[in-house]
Amino acid sequence: MSRLPNFPVAGGCACGAIRYRLSGAPLGIYSCHCTACQTLTGSAFSLGMSVLRKDFELTEGEPATWLRTADSGAVIPQRFCAKCGVRVFTEPPGGPHSLTLRPGTLDDASWVHPVAAFWTKSAQPWMTFEGDQLLYETNPTDFAPVMRAWTAWAEG
Ligand SMILES: [Zn+2]
Ligand SMILES: [Zn+2]
Repeated sequence: MSRLPNFPVAGGCACGAIRYRLSGAPLGIYSCHCTACQTLTGSAFSLGMSVLRKDFELTEGEPATWLRTADSGAVIPQRFCAKCGVRVFTEPPGGPHSLTLRPGTLDDASWVHPVAAFWTKSAQPWMTFEGDQLLYETNPTDFAPVMRAWTAWAEG
């Protein structure tokens, strides 16, 4: 059994100016509790869904870009809707074949399940994590365990 939806699936920003189609299963889904993600979302954490670039297609609108410089020095383009401000995806450094979709923008995000949590050391103290989640104090040095955990979860 699979916990994944039938692809393609669609999503977009809050005002509808940006729309996209995702035609394949993600590589992994995680939450990030770093202070930058807290600021970027105006909330406690962000959700990241790593997808293959070839599976992602903009079907409506052209996102605006903000080049964020991470503490590591990496410049990470943030693609957002210029009208409503919703950040739709991020271009991860060193990842020409993938991008990080913000899965809360999916039309149906009910299947979105983070199998890992990054930057738990700056997570809000009231945040709780599921027992089987992979927990990382900061960023993982290796994304492979996250992908394995995601695949195992998706296969149910
Ligand atoms: Zn919008
Ligand atoms: Zn973060």
